Amino acid sequence: MRPDQYGILYLALTSRCNLACSYCPVPKADISMPRLTAERGLDVLLHPRLRELRFFGGEPLLEFELIKILVERVQQSGHAGEHLLFRITTNGVLLDDEKLDFIEAHRNIQLVLSIDGAEKSHAGQRKSDAFSEKNSLEWFGKIAARIAALKRPVVANMVVCPQNVADMVENFAFIAKHGLRRVNILPAFYVEWSEDEISELRNGFRKTAALIDRLWSSGFSVEIENLHVNVEKPLFSGGLLLDCDGYVYSGDIAMLFHPGENRRRFSIGNITDINDLSALPEPPSACVDEESLFSRFSASALASTKQVDSELSHFVSMLRVLKSS
Ligand code: SF4
Repeated sequence: MRPDQYGILYLALTSRCNLACSYCPVPKADISMPRLTAERGLDVLLHPRLRELRFFGGEPLLEFELIKILVERVQQSGHAGEHLLFRITTNGVLLDDEKLDFIEAHRNIQLVLSIDGAEKSHAGQRKSDAFSEKNSLEWFGKIAARIAALKRPVVANMVVCPQNVADMVENFAFIAKHGLRRVNILPAFYVEWSEDEISELRNGFRKTAALIDRLWSSGFSVEIENLHVNVEKPLFSGGLLLDCDGYVYSGDIAMLFHPGENRRRFSIGNITDINDLSALPEPPSACVDEESLFSRFSASALASTKQVDSELSHFVSMLRVLKSS
């Protein structure tokens, strides 16, 4: 395999975020990607076989002006295939008409929106001075119809954590009811779950699968993104990652480590020293070992992660059976 077989390129535009979700395993820092770094990254790492360019954070909409510049640059470059998809993974708080106009005008942009469900479940896990529990879903209420009407369907990332697992079915129904018909259900990884909470998760998956089956049987179109995702490590996937400080990684799992030296030990180089895609290791090239994960998380959080990931796999198998029957 050649390095241009990395089908996904992540640009981590910033390590900053305007929220502090209780289950977020990604450390933050006050670092954003300089425009020159981003442009060099595109010049070196784009190739015609790239399928997806993912704008990542932190919260990438904090760098929306840079997103606009980069989308236009890629489209004019002729380096990337015409089927290239741009994905913006966002908590949505900064979405407004101006940003939605830009997204609407570029049909190859797809939003991946973090929304955990109804007010209580969603807001309960988000902590920010600017984002109180009282008004937490106000932004969504204002633009839900526009988001639902985008030509390229939005993917809703619905995180299920120990604190909201009891409301899993209601939260799924809330998301579908608001017109978001592609849902990715993510149990919170790298946090601790008790045995009771895991059993509640199992139960929630069973009930949610039954609801999805009823929706499918009645002709209601809802796509479950988990059916199309296959990742080696829970939550993280392969591809190339250009971090906001210019370091390059194979896969995005290094994002679990604090920006700076702690993260860079997994890097495969700095974009200023990489002149050619062929200088990079061939994929897949796992850069974070188990020992490093144990140094970062407690043994019980890692054990929980394995358990909830196995419950998720079971849910996906259930859906496959229901879909084929
Ligand atoms: S919005 Fe995303 S990046 Fe920000 S704290 Fe929440 S989970 Fe983490």
